[in-house]
This record gives sequence, C-alpha cells and structure tokens, in this order.
Amino acid sequence: MVTPSRIALARKRRGLTLAELSARAGVSLQSLSNYETGRTAPRSDTLAKIATALEFPASFFAGSALDELPCEGISWRARSKTSTRVLDAARAAGTLGAMLYDWIDERFRLPAVDVPSLGKPDPETAASMVRTRWGLGEAPTPNMVHLLEAHGVRVFSLDPDHAEVDAFAVWRDGVPFVFLNTLKSAERGRFDAAHELGHLVMHGSEHACSGPEAERQANEFASAFLMPRASVLGHMPSGAHLDQILRGKRIWKVSAMALTYRMHDLGLLTDWQYRSTCAELSRLGYRSDEPEGMGQRETSQVLMKVFAALRTKHVRPSGVAAELGLTSEEMNRLLFGLTLTSLAGSGQQDTSTAKRNLSVVS
Ligand SMILES: [Zn+2]
Repeated sequence: MVTPSRIALARKRRGLTLAELSARAGVSLQSLSNYETGRTAPRSDTLAKIATALEFPASFFAGSALDELPCEGISWRARSKTSTRVLDAARAAGTLGAMLYDWIDERFRLPAVDVPSLGKPDPETAASMVRTRWGLGEAPTPNMVHLLEAHGVRVFSLDPDHAEVDAFAVWRDGVPFVFLNTLKSAERGRFDAAHELGHLVMHGSEHACSGPEAERQANEFASAFLMPRASVLGHMPSGAHLDQILRGKRIWKVSAMALTYRMHDLGLLTDWQYRSTCAELSRLGYRSDEPEGMGQRETSQVLMKVFAALRTKHVRPSGVAAELGLTSEEMNRLLFGLTLTSLAGSGQQDTSTAKRNLSVVS
C-alpha cells in the first residue's frame, strides 16, 4: 500500500522537481506523476528506488495521508527572493513536525494553548497585552522557546540546509506551531521567536500573514515584546554611546542592532545618532553576527522532557523515528538536535508514561 500524497510530500521535502526525482531514481517521469496522483501504484522494487532517491524509509510511504500545513496560513520569515521550492521544502518539514507532534500529543499531556488572538491592535499594545496576560510585567523576557512552549506553542527546529528561511508560524486546528532555524545568533533566534509570536497573536489563523505590512507589524511586536518601553527607558540613557548599548543589550538578550532600533523608536537616539550607531555596529560586524553574544541557542524544553521520559521507558529516538517512517537524522533536524546531543547518556528517572498520563507542563 502506497499513499500517493506521501510521495509528493517527500519529494517536496527534498526540494526536487518530478524531473529531478525521475533522473535520480531511474523511474520515468510519467510513472512518477501517476504515482503522485494515485492513478497507478509503484511495484515494491520501484518504490524502493524512489525511497532511496528521496532518503526516506520505504515504510514512510505506507502511512496514512498527512494533513499538509496550509499554504495560505503560514507567515514566512524568509529572504524576499526565496524560491517556492525552498518554501515548499520548509513547509513539508513543517508537516513532518506536525506529524511528530501528533505522535507526542497522543502520549503526553502538553501545556494548554494560551495564545490570545487579538485581531489587529497596534503591535506595541498587542505585545503589552500578551506580557500582561503571561505575567511578565516589564521584566526582560526569559528563554523565548520555553516561554512559547509553556503557553502551548509547539516549537520545532528547521532544517539548517535552508538558510534562507529563518522561521515560520502557523495555526493548525487551534494549535499554534513555530519553526525556527538554528543558524543565526542566539539573540536573533529570540527575535525570530518573538516575531512569529506576533503573527500568531495579531494575524491569527484566518488571514494570509505575509507581505511587508504584516512583517513590519511582527517586527514591531517582537521589538516591544523583548524590550518593554518602561524597561528600556529605565535602563538606557538618552543618546547612549556604543559601549552602553553593547552592555545594555545583555539585559534583554537582544542583538545590538535590535536595541539600537528600539532606542531610536522610543526617542532615545536621534536620527543622526541612530544612523551613526548602525554604521559603527556594521563596521564591527554586528549586522550579520553578534560578537560576544549569549552564545548558546535557546532550545526546546518540552521535547527534551518528552524524549528523556521515553528513554526511561526504553523507547529510543530511533524507535520513534522508525514508527513514524522517518530516518533518525530527519527527526533530529526537527528536534533542535536534542536527540543526538543533550539526551545522550541521560538516565534520569521520570514519572509514568502511561498513555496521556505524563505531564510535561512546566
Ligand atoms: Zn514574519
């Protein structure tokens, strides 16, 4: 038994056209097209060739049809010239992440969703409303991934092969998902997470959330969420010098560029001071990187707990991957690399893993 849509999904995941897969697998274009539409089904030896070419276990293609993440509901944080092919590959990875989430959700009790849909208030107000609702006051934002997870957002990592895609967010059946690339600096990763939260809160599940205006709003939201007005006004002097900005960015764990932008936005830097600070930061390498930054990227707490708990039941990550029809590597790419690194050798005891009985609510 082969599920046609799974062939198309795996092909998109690898960023291949039908013609490219045809060449790689040694299967005719017409046959492949028929398999994907379900007009005919491949014989098992042909399926094996396709599976090898796509680097998916053959068992993947026998699973039930997957709900693809909706194209129109995704807010992309990607370079403007990113090709459809790369976006399709990232969306296919997201669909696999959602499949993995469903597997986890059947076995664990996860934090309830507490992400408000605020319609479209201005970003500054929206950020302040979420901070109040989540009891953050004016304090610097803690670990963004943990914070999102604690409020029911399912956070996965994106394939580092697609550097053009920084992040994306999507609602699926009332559950918010955020996917984060792990290539940029830790500070920019926090900003991406806050940016996606902005989309989830302000643009909800009904609308297409892309376009320059939605992007501007999500950036303003992230800036206000990570650097609350009162907190910045309380800590940063008007016309601050570069060394003060470089010390100050550590308070909110943001990039020097992001703090400079926020200070200008709040009237602490004049236009001229803003431009000259940006030029100086650029010269020092702060435009694309974060020298002397926080270093370690923020990663998932929920996924760490889930796989640690499974381990105590002698369920290994490779077993989960096999059950889902994924390679361990494919699954690990969705898991911030946690199943290869942090969990290795972890033998801590945890509570019972009876179905839906294990709580990973933090
Ligand atoms: Zn965006």
